[in-house]
Amino acid sequence: MAFNWICPYCSHSSTITEQNQSGSLHYFNHNNVENQELGVYVNTIVCPNNDCRQVTISAKLGHTIYSSGRTKFSPPVIQSWRLKPSSSALAFPDYVPLAVRQDYEEACSIVGLSPKASATLSRRCLQGIIRDYWKIVKGRLVDEIEALQEKIDPDTWDAIDAVRKIGNIGAHMEKDINIIIEVDPEEAQLLIELIETLIKDWYVARHKRQEHLVKIKAAAESKK
Ligand SMILES: [Zn+2]
Repeated sequence: MAFNWICPYCSHSSTITEQNQSGSLHYFNHNNVENQELGVYVNTIVCPNNDCRQVTISAKLGHTIYSSGRTKFSPPVIQSWRLKPSSSALAFPDYVPLAVRQDYEEACSIVGLSPKASATLSRRCLQGIIRDYWKIVKGRLVDEIEALQEKIDPDTWDAIDAVRKIGNIGAHMEKDINIIIEVDPEEAQLLIELIETLIKDWYVARHKRQEHLVKIKAAAESKK
């Protein structure tokens, strides 16, 4: 079964087929506490991008059923793990500031365990991006975001505005950086996705544009 997939190492999107992935199911009962037929399914994917070819490994625990002569994994998933890489963080290039990448990576790695810690790191990351990329420095993140509105395209502004109106995220942006606010896991995940979008739309897009302009300039000069 083919599916679309984004590599966590190189961020390339590709279609994964049987040539790029395989998995196996280990099933057991061993008189477990609920006396259920359980299984651990381990899946491996190798990135089809020739410049990458990194290995991604994940595992999930769930129930199993026996049908048509074989034991199969049966949803829903009880628990799942990212084994390699261990977090969902995308690998952003070196030209994205180290402090931004570190806060982002830590926010991703802790989102399942502690959404409020993740959201706190995301808030610091978001502030770091606005200060570095747009040179807007004010006291509170909420004021820095307000100042952003006249500088950025309306679509990006709408996305930021929509995310900060969800649940406790808005309160997060108004408070001092040291105050920890409860958020639920979906809210923390949305903040992470917002940061990913902003890094791509700002740092990565600017870098690509600069690279392209250098190429055009070099081509023009070779014609002289
Ligand atoms: Zn890759």
